Amino acid sequence: MSDPVSPNTGTLPLVLPRLPYPEDALEPHISAKTIGFHYGKHHQAYADNTNKLVKGTPFENLSLEEIVRKAAGDPENAGLFNNAAQVFNHTFYWQSMKPNGGGEPAGELAEKIKAAFGSFAGFKEEFAKAAATRFGSGWAWLVVERGKLKVTSTPNADTPIAHGQTPIITIDVWEHAYYLDFQNRRTDYIASFLDHLANWDFAEKNFAL
Ligand code: MN
Repeated sequence: MSDPVSPNTGTLPLVLPRLPYPEDALEPHISAKTIGFHYGKHHQAYADNTNKLVKGTPFENLSLEEIVRKAAGDPENAGLFNNAAQVFNHTFYWQSMKPNGGGEPAGELAEKIKAAFGSFAGFKEEFAKAAATRFGSGWAWLVVERGKLKVTSTPNADTPIAHGQTPIITIDVWEHAYYLDFQNRRTDYIASFLDHLANWDFAEKNFAL
């Protein structure tokens, strides 16, 4: 559970942190089969590609987050950005969920969510809408930007850390995240995430950073 968000401390190769729970721990909402492919194949491939792309380049000695920020917006490094950002995003996503999650955050994060969205229900509605309306592949996030909480979504591999935002919690809405369990019913997957999986302990920790 204490695996760092950034698995690359500057030594190659980049190694994926272990999942913070067994592959079947999120059932019946997300199956072991989905997690097995998503973590074992998709996430692993992004890490393998990142390792190949940085080899022998000035990126080689940077941390994962530095690689993402440096490659962002640089057309010559679009492939590296996509793979490195996806390594970061997925590591963040695994931690954004836990068995018997859902419910509501506590403490200062709860207060700030009420202040920003009117109520926790108001936040849920906005987050679910951002996740459902992200056309094609991408992510929905709760972030802090210039001291303020906001809901956002990013296309494909794009990530808040490339835009000066601090991520608090995320949901992956690429089809590979839910298709085996929900087929085309993305909104049911989003509802399951919010009601049964969201890890507010992790979110509170990110908010306090
Ligand atoms: Mn994914």
